[in-house]
Amino acid sequence: MRYQPSLFESPPPPTPERVGTLRVAERPRAKVLGRASAEWLGCDYTLNPYVGCGFGCAYCYAAAFVADEERKQEWGRWVDVKVDALRELERTDLRGRRVFIGTATDPYQPVEAKVRLTRRILEHLVEITPQPVVAITTRGPLVTRDLDLLRRFESLRVNMSVTTDSDRIRRDFEPSCASIERRIQTLEELRVAGIRIAVFIAPMLPIEDPIGFAQRLKALEAERYMSQPFHQTDVPFRSNTREGAWEVARRYDWDEEGYRQTAIRMKTVLPQMSVRMRGMA
Ligand code: SF4
Repeated sequence: MRYQPSLFESPPPPTPERVGTLRVAERPRAKVLGRASAEWLGCDYTLNPYVGCGFGCAYCYAAAFVADEERKQEWGRWVDVKVDALRELERTDLRGRRVFIGTATDPYQPVEAKVRLTRRILEHLVEITPQPVVAITTRGPLVTRDLDLLRRFESLRVNMSVTTDSDRIRRDFEPSCASIERRIQTLEELRVAGIRIAVFIAPMLPIEDPIGFAQRLKALEAERYMSQPFHQTDVPFRSNTREGAWEVARRYDWDEEGYRQTAIRMKTVLPQMSVRMRGMA
């Protein structure tokens, strides 16, 4: 057993461990930082504490990057913890750099409640002088657990994914994620606590009432609103929507044109909503 006691609550769990139906294993030496090559990311480093994601969304793009076919099929049922993350961060000069957390997998996915690796990473980042500029993308209400730390950053924004206005539709695509209501509540809690927020409608799922949804989101007074359709490519190892999600989308008659029409309607209320991803800040 090789768990670092500093990363886990004691007593340390066995390896691999199950959290609910999730298989959790450690992945030593896995890189937690990535140099951000894509201009649209608008950051210097991406940072992902986990490989795999217990939310297991039907459309997840990150699954396309899994080489092992069996693991790809089992997406959502396993997660690897990058147990050497802090060691790597200590070796890297992050002073004043722009760090985007959660570009590949969710930093506040269910395992984080137990493992607390994202929290340990934030504890490290907040002590750097000058502090890094941080953005966190998540759909996990667990992010409010770390409000004490989030408040200590001079520049930090939480981007919360809110993908539809219907919990029935949400359950078809994201059965393990928090309800839409819970995510909106989380955004409100963050804003009231003085944390900058953005709403990512990404990928946009079918929306039952585009105008009402846009009004609800507008009331949050987020700094940014961004929407995105499903990705589609035939190129392997590119960000791509999983086949299971297309099947569900077809049941709802949801396609690129549906996205376009819905985005147009939402923009009558939220003209500032961008329709493609651009930058973290
Ligand atoms: S939360 Fe994000 S990373 Fe996790 S399964 Fe859903 S889309 Fe993928």
